Amino acid sequence: MEIKITKTKKSKIHEVDMNNIPFGQVFSDHMFVADYKNGEWINAEIKPVENLSLHPANLALHYGQSVFEGMKASVKRDGTPCLLRPEMHAKRINLSAERMCMPAIPEELFLEALHKLVGLDSDWIPPHDGSALYIRPYMFATDEYLGVRPSKSYKFIILTLPVGPYYTKPVSLKAETQYVRAAHGGVGEAKAAGNYAASLYPAKKAVEEGFDQVLWLDAKEFKYVQEVGTMNIFFVIDDVVVTPQTDGTILKGITRDSFITIFKDHGYKVEERLVSIDEIFEAAEQEKLSEVFGAGTAAVVSKVHKIHHDGREINLDTKSYKVADLAYDIITGLRNGTVEDKYDWIVPVEVLEAV
Ligand SMILES: *Cc1c(COP(=O)(O)O)cnc(C)c1O
Repeated sequence: MEIKITKTKKSKIHEVDMNNIPFGQVFSDHMFVADYKNGEWINAEIKPVENLSLHPANLALHYGQSVFEGMKASVKRDGTPCLLRPEMHAKRINLSAERMCMPAIPEELFLEALHKLVGLDSDWIPPHDGSALYIRPYMFATDEYLGVRPSKSYKFIILTLPVGPYYTKPVSLKAETQYVRAAHGGVGEAKAAGNYAASLYPAKKAVEEGFDQVLWLDAKEFKYVQEVGTMNIFFVIDDVVVTPQTDGTILKGITRDSFITIFKDHGYKVEERLVSIDEIFEAAEQEKLSEVFGAGTAAVVSKVHKIHHDGREINLDTKSYKVADLAYDIITGLRNGTVEDKYDWIVPVEVLEAV
């Protein structure tokens, strides 16, 4: 499909201090937009970021058909803009869409839109390690209809935002024993907007009780660990890397997948299996638990220094973490070109003339 490109007449890039970017508020010059109507994707266009006009009966607002992705573009030391495993994100948004009765976005359209948009706004990628151009592809229903049924029309948009190095202070976790994130048969495996709305209340409670994030347990027994906040979780027990198996309730993180490959490649034994909260406390008691960390595109690694569960607590010394640092260093090195890309994960983006 032909992507129409309308370039901005006046870039806003000079208004932004790339060394001090407030998270989630600064958008680059352009966005990609396409419409789904009568069974096909049409009107593919890159244009200056502008407001949308929506009918008040927009189906997504009422019944929540809305899915998204989160990825990052970075620049290598030689100045080449690049993406990390973009085809994995193209596939995953379609898995999320299928669960929500939404149409697939052809992978070629997703990838071409991504390349053109990032190529056009490549000056917006902050060059420092840990900084990046955060990319937010998302799709939502656009039918004007107040009935519970799948929408017939949709919008697919890609926004990009320069972001500084993510908050990397070690975090404390409250293992949640009242609220759940995802149950078997539910939508935990989809990157669906409503999942995040549902997590806000327990997250707020955790913060009120003095914790940074929620450690989600399974919905049936409150026994098995699922995820941390909006990240996948890893444990190092007796030098073995352990992460919960994806069983339909856990988001299949691309960072999670990359980490498993990297750890195996560096000689670690990696186990994807059920991990109970009791096992974690027992391992800590026996001094076998050496690391706990979250994994996701935004922060890459988020080290955990404390876990609270039902009146008991584990405290960890994050300064001695080696496995978490290994993962962070490899991902960062692949992105800036200082680590050889033997996995073929890095995809260069062709720079396009912005004005
Ligand atoms: C996006 C997300 C992750 C991390 O996925 P990545 O592909 O690694 O960014 C983990 N858990 C949840 C709930 C998520 O939404």
